[in-house]
Amino acid sequence: MFTVGLTGGIGSGKSAAAARFRHHGVNVVDADRAARTVVEPGRPALVAIAEHFGAEVLLADGNLDRAALRKRVFDDPAERRWLEELTHPLIREEIVTALAASPQTHSAPYAILESPLLIESGQSALVQRICVVDLPELTQLERASMRDGNDPEQIRKIMAAQMPRAERCAKADDILDNDASLAELEAQVDKLHARYVVLASQYQS
Ligand code: ATP
Repeated sequence: MFTVGLTGGIGSGKSAAAARFRHHGVNVVDADRAARTVVEPGRPALVAIAEHFGAEVLLADGNLDRAALRKRVFDDPAERRWLEELTHPLIREEIVTALAASPQTHSAPYAILESPLLIESGQSALVQRICVVDLPELTQLERASMRDGNDPEQIRKIMAAQMPRAERCAKADDILDNDASLAELEAQVDKLHARYVVLASQYQS
């Protein structure tokens, strides 16, 4: 199925745009959710992680202690690579399965893959088109800080670790400009939706 990758930096408005695409009957597959699913209790990846890093990366209820795991891989590229080599193929499989279900579960003729790391992770190989949610960095910082009740310095660090704005926009086929109101963002999504319906019909024929 024709699939569009939806990406953007922290707090750029991906979820807001995704909600509007869903309103049009589009199956929006969330890469972050897929990443959480593959390490749920009962999944083989969680067993492998606990065997590799020890029980200290598990919470008392058996769930993954993400903060503990983050600490273990943060400054250790080899451990990070080990973790990525284990989880990335599983996440990809999870995404492919969710996208493949689109025609049975949703009315729109195309699907969306929402992923903050669409370009960096190689998940862009799963899509035919890239849509970037873009906004000035200062607005991004303000919105993300307000949403997370977080220290702006922390958000600034995350932004610095993500792909630079210009580089991300250079990879985009379409850009949603989220520098104005939510209503304006939704109006742009509505226009893109109409365009994607046409592109999807051309892709299938
Ligand atoms: P993350 O990747 O960090 O989860 P995101 O890209 O999904 O972020 P959202 O959660 O959609 O971003 O938006 C971040 C915050 O900014 C939210 O609180 C959202 O309600 C708000 N927001 C998004 N777009 C606008 C807008 N156009 N005007 C005002 N607030 C907005």
